[in-house]
Amino acid sequence: MDDKIKSYAETLYMQSLMTSVQTVLDDQVALLKKIATQTRSSDLPFSGSQLRELVKFRVKHIERCMQAKLDSYQKAYQEAVAVPTNEELIEIWNEVEQTQKLQISQTTSALQVFLKGRSVDWNPGETLATESGHGHDEVLQRWKIWRGKVQLQRADATKPKLGDSDDYKFARLAVDEARKSVSEQDGRPHPKVGAVVVKNGQVLSAAYRGEFEGNHAEYIALEKHLSDTAAAGATVYTTLEPCTTRNHPKIPCAQRLIERKVARVVIGMLDPDHRISGKGQRKLRTANIVTDFFPPNLMTEVEELNREFTRYAEQQNQETQRAASSDGKLTDRKRHINVFAGVGCELVKKVPKPDAHINEAFRWTKEVKDWAASVHSFLKQECGALAANKFERINRLDSTYLGIHKDVGQVYGSLQCLIRNLEEILEKASTYLCD
Ligand SMILES: [Zn+2]
Repeated sequence: MDDKIKSYAETLYMQSLMTSVQTVLDDQVALLKKIATQTRSSDLPFSGSQLRELVKFRVKHIERCMQAKLDSYQKAYQEAVAVPTNEELIEIWNEVEQTQKLQISQTTSALQVFLKGRSVDWNPGETLATESGHGHDEVLQRWKIWRGKVQLQRADATKPKLGDSDDYKFARLAVDEARKSVSEQDGRPHPKVGAVVVKNGQVLSAAYRGEFEGNHAEYIALEKHLSDTAAAGATVYTTLEPCTTRNHPKIPCAQRLIERKVARVVIGMLDPDHRISGKGQRKLRTANIVTDFFPPNLMTEVEELNREFTRYAEQQNQETQRAASSDGKLTDRKRHINVFAGVGCELVKKVPKPDAHINEAFRWTKEVKDWAASVHSFLKQECGALAANKFERINRLDSTYLGIHKDVGQVYGSLQCLIRNLEEILEKASTYLCD
């Protein structure tokens, strides 16, 4: 143990010891005064309860000494900005126990001398040892807590610091590059991207988006700055997931990284564009390139840097999703229309002949009505009231069928007209629905 720490702890302990001794004497004087006023005589032997109180002061003193021993070491280490080793901690605990033993024996002698003056012949050693056991356990508990803290501190100290790792250093550099990005002037937000190529702990090249007009950072870092240098086995730190699609004849960055045989790609954030998101990383992994992400706080910084672009990309994603789902609806609707038209055609084919039985005519009319009802409800649900109302007008035609069913030719013509109109309405309705 460091001598300075030890002697400082000793000084602190001595101060506490003297204060405690003073407290014991004060307590003892107070007790004697109390006894004197109660008994009006100073030479009566102590009663049992008076003795117990006397012993209690001494026990408290022993406990205070143990605590003071531990406190003095803790304070000495704290002020020296030092952390005790495990051996030192054990040494300190042994001293605490020594303190207890020493104080028990000193207190026993002092008490015996005092009690002899009052004609009490008693050795309080065992009582003091037993009674100060509680204090002993309490200090032991505190010592254990200290030991726990010290072990945690030591574990922390051996952990590599965030800012010390190579990944952190190079990722940081890539973020700094990203900040320099130059956007295309096409009125929409673009990501800020920086890329750093590292091999054997050395930065081979660094680039940012737009450093060469309209070019991606990875492309510039690899092809513009390193066209003649082998990038095989290198680690590339890029603030944004490498792209997987580019307009012909440009080659997507993920493809380029694979072609240059880099060993590892460390990514700052995935591309928020859902057409790329995750695909760039997957493409690299499929090509046996190791992928990792930036340290968390640098990822946050990159996300912050690209919040405008991310918001824009998310809007675009939603729009494509909406378009896709309205495409789906449209296809669904067309299918329905085809089914309705098909059923309508069948109905036309089945128009009863003029000499048909009246029941057959009724049955057919009922089928037409059912058909018209289902088309109507479909239109109402899918195309809104406007289209449904238009159909309603045509639908009324069918009420006339019953009256004119004898003239099958006329019925046939009406129904064909009905189907034609229906198709037209549905066609129009589909266009409303797209908005
Ligand atoms: Zn790219």
